[in-house]
Order: sequence, then C-alpha cells, then structure tokens
Amino acid sequence: MTIYRATVLDTPQSPFDGARLRTGTDIGLRVLEGVITLRDSYAAVAREYPDEQVIDLTDGILLPGFVDTHVHFPQLRVIGALGMPLLDWLDRAALPEELRMADDDQAAAVAGGFLRGLREAGTTTALVFGSHFASAMDVFFTHARASRIRIISGLVVSDRILPDGLLTTPERAYEQSVELAKRWHGVGRLHYAVTPRFSLSAGEEMLAACGKVMQDVPGLYFTSHVNENKREVEEVEELFGGLDYTSTYDAHGLLGPRSVLAHDVHPKDAELALMASRGSSVAHCPTSNAALGSGLFPLKRHVEHGVSVALGSDVGAGSGYCLLKEGLQAYFMQQLLGDAGLPLTAAHLLYLATRAGALSLDLGDRVGDLSVGREFDAVWIRPAHGDPLDMGIEHAKDSDDVLAKIFALGTTDDVAGVWVGGEHLSQTSVG
Ligand SMILES: [Zn+2]
Repeated sequence: MTIYRATVLDTPQSPFDGARLRTGTDIGLRVLEGVITLRDSYAAVAREYPDEQVIDLTDGILLPGFVDTHVHFPQLRVIGALGMPLLDWLDRAALPEELRMADDDQAAAVAGGFLRGLREAGTTTALVFGSHFASAMDVFFTHARASRIRIISGLVVSDRILPDGLLTTPERAYEQSVELAKRWHGVGRLHYAVTPRFSLSAGEEMLAACGKVMQDVPGLYFTSHVNENKREVEEVEELFGGLDYTSTYDAHGLLGPRSVLAHDVHPKDAELALMASRGSSVAHCPTSNAALGSGLFPLKRHVEHGVSVALGSDVGAGSGYCLLKEGLQAYFMQQLLGDAGLPLTAAHLLYLATRAGALSLDLGDRVGDLSVGREFDAVWIRPAHGDPLDMGIEHAKDSDDVLAKIFALGTTDDVAGVWVGGEHLSQTSVG
C-alpha cells in the first residue's frame, strides 16, 4: 500500500456539461494493489495510516494519465514530414515506412521507440493503429505488454489502392485478425481492435470480413479513419455508390460503443446523428489536421449531436506524442473557427486528454480521473525550478490558471513521473 501526497487536478465530470475542474490541494491518495481506495486531505489520510509509505509529489501537479485515442505505431520515423495533404503524405511518407514493418527487427526497433514516446509523454492508455503485417503485430504486442501501458491495437487490413505489399485478402485478414485477437485480447493490459485502414483502401468484402471478426470474437474494439480530407471523402463516396463515409462502416456492423473513428473533420449531420445513435466516439487529432491542412475540426457540431470526442496525437501525421500539445492545438482551432468554434477552457482540454478518452475506450470505470475506485494511472508534472512553467505555476491565480499554463508551456520534459495501475514507469526519480 502506498500513499501519494500531491496537488491533484482532474475532471471526473464533463466540462461540456458545465462541470468544473476538480482541485485537490495537498491531498492523500491511498493506493492498494493499483487501485485508489481513499482520497482525502493528506493530513486525514496520514492520520488514518501513519505507518504507510508516502510518495511526496507536492513539488508539482498530479494529473490523470493521458489517453491517446489515435496514434500509429509504425510511423515513429516519419514524424515531421511537412508540406503535403493526406493522400500525398500517405504515398510519400507513411506507406513506404509501413512497408518496412515486414521485417521483424525493424518492427521491434520502432515498437520500442514508439512505446518510449508514449511513456515519456505521460500517456498511460492508447488506441494504437497497428501494422499491416501480422508478425509485426506479435512483435508490437510483446513490447506493449512489457511496457505496462494500456494498449488497444490490431492488424491493419486493406485490399485495394495501397502498395501491393500492404494488401491482403478478406479471408486472410479474417484469419490473421482472429488469431491475433485470440492471442492478445485481454492479456495483461492489452486489448484488440479490428482495424481496416480506411474505406478508401478496404472494399465491401474486406469490411464484411472485419464485421465477422467482431461477431466471432466478443468484446473487441473497432477503429478506423473517417472524413479526414475532402478529396478522400469524395473518393470514398464514389467508390461506395454515394453512401456517406460513416455508413460504409455501419453497413457492416462496425459501429458501437467500442468504436473510435479518427478525424471526422468534414462530417454530414446525418453521420453525426448515426455515430451518436451507435455510441461511437471520434478521435480529434488537432496537430495532424493542421499539419496536413485537413481542416478545422467542427467540435461544436459533435457536441450538439451528442457524439463523444477525445484527443489523438495521430503520430506520424501529428507532430509528437504529447497530449498537452494536442490540447493546446485543439484550443487554437476552436479560436480560429470564430462563431463556429467552441471556446475551450483548460478544464475542457484536460477532460479531452483524460476522462473523455477513457470513456470513448469503454474504460471509464477503470481510469480517466483520480477518484476512489479508479486504478492509479497518473502523470506528475514537475517543471525544472525557475523555468517559465515553474514560475507560471507559482504565480498562477487559481488552479484553472495553473492548468492553462501547463497546457500552454508543458512539454514531455516536464513529465517527471508516470504510473499505470500503481506501477511506476518513468525513469525519473520520484519524491
Ligand atoms: Zn491516423
């Protein structure tokens, strides 16, 4: 049993429903077998358990661990390929690198760097777009299990348009997906996600095969891309005889409460209504949308339709693993949208980076805030003494101001400790 002493900021209730940031100044969290069993003032917790080990995190701010709902493991080495729209970027940056995952040694090197990137960013849960190669997925899941981070991922499948080396058949996709799901779903903190790359590269038969995997192995997740780029949307509609992009997935039973669609920059109202009716979520990836010039995310329309939205870094189109940066960019985007934007507070940004992600991944009863009953997934933000963030926090007028400064100035350098289920992941010394 361990008691963590800290100032804790979290968002157990949604700011989109009017809730405020929850501030716990100098509180004690008693953690037993990875689960928070008591949350009270530190003085009260210490009085009740005077002999327990105390980890002192008062020199900094403790937040719930970040939840990244869209990030590609094979794209670590193509981060920073700027200056191209989506389809050119795929052809020239992403897909050539994804072909290299056919080599298990390459996949292992990239998987190690990728998981390190998540850990250093304070990401404790991630829905990860995998590789097109089943052997690379075994390599990735092996590394992911050892990392102790909560990882949901799966084999990426496609049967048209992409380079030949990335294509498969619906039959082979079904077989390999079921095999991988049976081997890894529910092992440690791992889960499996059925993952057609996008409807542009997955025809009716491939999407039907994906639907059959979901039917035959209960409890799996589903993830893919939707409505990212206008040219892509037009091509999908043409390939599916005018069907809207979201319906191409829904037609095969792929949308439910464990389904996360990345981007959705250009949705029709009917698609938002459909997603809401299925309880599916959208992964908003602000730096990716900006880098590829995909567009300004219509967050207000999602909220008005009741579609839940969380954050994704979308590495490698996104520009890094840090969800503080994604939160800040999400804020910028809504400002740039003017009247169509939804003005965001720091509490909204924290919610999008933590609790909303947990809910969108059907993990809301386990993680996403630091309440009693949740597993202790946490990130300790402790800037170097005297640096601008440290001085900003010291002189902040209230806890919302502290949090705004963390989103404005915080980087992975300020992540001084990361825990998943009470296990300490970071190399940095604690307390
Ligand atoms: Zn993506």
